[in-house]
Amino acid sequence: MTFTSLASSSRGNCYVASDGETAILLECGISFRRIKKELGFDLSTIRGCLVSHEHKDHAKSVMDMIKSGIEVFASEGTAEALDCALITPVEAGAQFRVGSLEIMPFRTWHDAKEPLGFLIYSRQDGERLVFATDTVNLGHTFPGVNLLALEANYDKDILDRCERMPEKVRHRVTNSHMEIQSLCRYLRTLDLSACRVLYLLHLSNAASSEGRFIERVRQVVPQHVRVIVCEE
Ligand SMILES: [Zn+2]
Repeated sequence: MTFTSLASSSRGNCYVASDGETAILLECGISFRRIKKELGFDLSTIRGCLVSHEHKDHAKSVMDMIKSGIEVFASEGTAEALDCALITPVEAGAQFRVGSLEIMPFRTWHDAKEPLGFLIYSRQDGERLVFATDTVNLGHTFPGVNLLALEANYDKDILDRCERMPEKVRHRVTNSHMEIQSLCRYLRTLDLSACRVLYLLHLSNAASSEGRFIERVRQVVPQHVRVIVCEE
């Protein structure tokens, strides 16, 4: 299985997961024009699009996706918040299938109506990808995971030094996004013996440090795991 980032920040998120037989988009929070461009103007290989929640930086192009014949999967809460009856509703704990991919949504914690993360298993190559962004924490461990794509949004120490950040924004960040220490604590609970790559997603512009985040994460994941920061 491969995981590719097309965009990863609060300005927009969009990723591709593929096992060679089935390719899907994870999020469509950038312009449809940009998605098409990033995919070489060929959407025919994309079998579906999973959307974690309704915020614009994740769901901007939902209608364009649907109009171009790509099935969009999201929770009922997300579909309601987007006021879109054309989304295929999925729910935490109920597995569904897109081509050769078996997808298990799970609950995440964010200031959205019914946010989800996704565990994606390929029947083609037997690999497992966990995708979770925009969540203060994670409640599941994922045995045998091969690829992890997780939010690493901010560092509390850097955030505390962002004097110009309005209190309201600061409050929102700390109550809806993943702090680097929380991520490290979570990573310690996982069996990463089969994990090949850890992708760090959605780094905050104001309150993160790519270098420090890699260092921090390296201290808690086994040597064989590659750590990649997904750039804007
Ligand atoms: Zn969000």
